Amino acid sequence: MKIGVLAIQGDFAEHILMLERLGVETTEVRLPRHLTGLDGLIIPGGESTTIGKLAVDFGLLEPLREFGRKHAVWGTCAGAIFLSKDVRRSQPLLGIMDITIQRNAFGRQVDSFEADVEVPLLREVTSGNQPYHAVFIRAPLIEAVHNDAQVLASLPDGRIVAAQQGHLLATSFHPELTSDDRFHRYFLSLAD
Ligand code: GLN
Repeated sequence: MKIGVLAIQGDFAEHILMLERLGVETTEVRLPRHLTGLDGLIIPGGESTTIGKLAVDFGLLEPLREFGRKHAVWGTCAGAIFLSKDVRRSQPLLGIMDITIQRNAFGRQVDSFEADVEVPLLREVTSGNQPYHAVFIRAPLIEAVHNDAQVLASLPDGRIVAAQQGHLLATSFHPELTSDDRFHRYFLSLAD
């Protein structure tokens, strides 16, 4: 299995390290041709407006949309924003996942936080049932899921922080910044 990580801005290096630790072959994706032969793609956290603008400049928008029609794609934080169809403002988006996003929903950088979230689906890749310790950095909220997109995890107050639609995955937090590899393993099961 070979997984690409979009490497034009943001914390792609941390995703690559996590994938390497899991014994997966990885590729940094900067140009459309880097998508050839991949089984899945991770779009990292960073700044979604910058990722969007650079994706336009590098001619990546359509190739990424096409890739996402058939393959597993996971967006973390800014990556989740970039995957979504609606962010209530104008910026370049892939627009392939039926979720509505509210950017910077928890406030500014200083309002970043960590929280334990219950993620029932992780039972598919692990026998235990411990909560997932999630890192939120100037994070977006998944305001709503539409069509066949489903909620995977919410905060105790009900706000949605992870969703899945078929082979597309979105988390508003950063599993690549922890040592807990369960989300990465779950994503690999979607790419397989
Ligand atoms: N605030 C960023 C944005 O709106 C996302 C932050 C992140 O990826 N950690 O794009």
